[in-house]
Amino acid sequence: MAQKTTLVACPTCGKAVAWRPENAFRPFCGERCKMIDLGAWANESYKVPTEHGTFEEDIERPQ
Ligand SMILES: [Zn+2]
Repeated sequence: MAQKTTLVACPTCGKAVAWRPENAFRPFCGERCKMIDLGAWANESYKVPTEHGTFEEDIERPQ
């Protein structure tokens, strides 16, 4: 039983990635490369909403 694993090249870094159902990030090698690729169109300011959470600090509240 020769089970062949399909290998694809990660579009971001070119690393060989096994194309398996359990690889949630295929064809990328990992979350990082996927995020880089998704963010590439906006890489002039690659910002991701973080656990920073609320925007309350930016709101000018009446004293
Ligand atoms: Zn990669």
